[in-house]
Amino acid sequence: MTDGPLVLLVEDDPAMRRFLRAALGTHAFRLVEAGTMREGLAQAAGRNPDVILLDLGLPDGDGLDATRQLREWTTTPIIVLSARGQEQDKIAALDAGADDYLTKPFSVGELLARMRVALRHRAGGGEAPQLFETGALRVDLARRTVTVGGAEVHLTPTEYKLLAVLVKHAGKVLTHRQLLLEVWGSHNPQTQALRVYVTQLRHKIEPDPARPRLLITEPGVGYRLRDA
Ligand code: CA
Repeated sequence: MTDGPLVLLVEDDPAMRRFLRAALGTHAFRLVEAGTMREGLAQAAGRNPDVILLDLGLPDGDGLDATRQLREWTTTPIIVLSARGQEQDKIAALDAGADDYLTKPFSVGELLARMRVALRHRAGGGEAPQLFETGALRVDLARRTVTVGGAEVHLTPTEYKLLAVLVKHAGKVLTHRQLLLEVWGSHNPQTQALRVYVTQLRHKIEPDPARPRLLITEPGVGYRLRDA
């Protein structure tokens, strides 16, 4: 028995459970498993896990409902496990309060990276560090300065706000809706305007804006700022 973080896995597929049991066991995570939504919600309340891996398609309900119910009383990070083609469900789960998602099949490395981000956000109480660095990009939230390779970059107020929101949630995917709400405080302007600002921002912070390595598009869902 180790003292690693406690992971609650809510998943009905035995093969996926075997895969995750093996992957997490070798990385000092402790694992609690549930095969139904009802059992998952009970385990979440009873065991107080550090992170929840939640399948969207469960025999007695869907992960979207589970996310809503969990968010009524807990801020424990939730990483949704989804199949390809469930984009709308992923978006709905993220908007309902899930922290991230993984599309099956995913690699152990991908899973661990997402879990590290989720656990770090939990440990930091969701607060962004004052200084953020990824690649050549450096953002100083206290001084409101942005540099790339040491050279200062001038951003418009909206570009800066967009970048600051991404920094605050670095490593996590943000849906179009979440970004519009956080940056503009409403659903207006629309996704098209967001795309324009993302493009402008990429031209200022990416080494090659046509092949973004920092500000990543999550197709059909939103954007993610690479975390170191
Ligand atoms: Ca399933």
